[in-house]
Amino acid sequence: MRVAVVSDIHANLAALEAVLAAIDAEPPDELWCLGDLVGYNARPNECCALVEERAAICLAGNHDLAVAERLPLGEFSGDAGAAARWTRGVLDDASRALLGRIQPEGEREGVGLFHGSARDPIWEYVLSDDAAEATLDLSGKQLVLVGHSHAALVAQERDGALGGGLAPDGTELDLAAGRALLNPGSVGQPRDGDPRAAWLALDLDARRATFHRVEYDVERTQREIREAGLPATLAARLEHGI
Ligand code: ZN
Repeated sequence: MRVAVVSDIHANLAALEAVLAAIDAEPPDELWCLGDLVGYNARPNECCALVEERAAICLAGNHDLAVAERLPLGEFSGDAGAAARWTRGVLDDASRALLGRIQPEGEREGVGLFHGSARDPIWEYVLSDDAAEATLDLSGKQLVLVGHSHAALVAQERDGALGGGLAPDGTELDLAAGRALLNPGSVGQPRDGDPRAAWLALDLDARRATFHRVEYDVERTQREIREAGLPATLAARLEHGI
């Protein structure tokens, strides 16, 4: 089975459309989404509709839960809180229903899926080998996928030791080499220094993973943010990937 994995779309429709176009160039068997469909950017309903139509499984991220009133807005500060409050006001019924039922953890084809981590599926950022090891141990899986940090990352076990780091565009991995935790990076608000939209291709039969980045129309998303009256810093950060 071939799978395309996306995460942290954050209502960036231009980025999601670019990623889906790249994925469709060689259509996988399934699309998986690791959560945070909304928040930060200005096209939440369109992104929810596309993900609902296309994804075989979709997790809930912390922003999704806040917008769906399953988490208090008080847990979000600054721009994140402002965007979550704005999103609550524009969300349509179908998107509200979707965000009301998705969960922050799941499993598909034997792969462990978490928005954050196995220890804390909603909030923990897996950014160290120790955190990656804890999630691999707790999940009991050979392969775990997480989102939330907005950085494309790999942590893989080789000869009993876990190691890894950032996974730039084109990084390929032999999943048969050892237990692995992967973060595909963010579609809609990358924070790993590469402003291009991120996605991950998995071939579960060949045991291969490939990290991808795609150019998209950043200016279109920035314009949408300005027109919505969302904080200007949310527009500015997109061109730097921070
Ligand atoms: Zn996010």
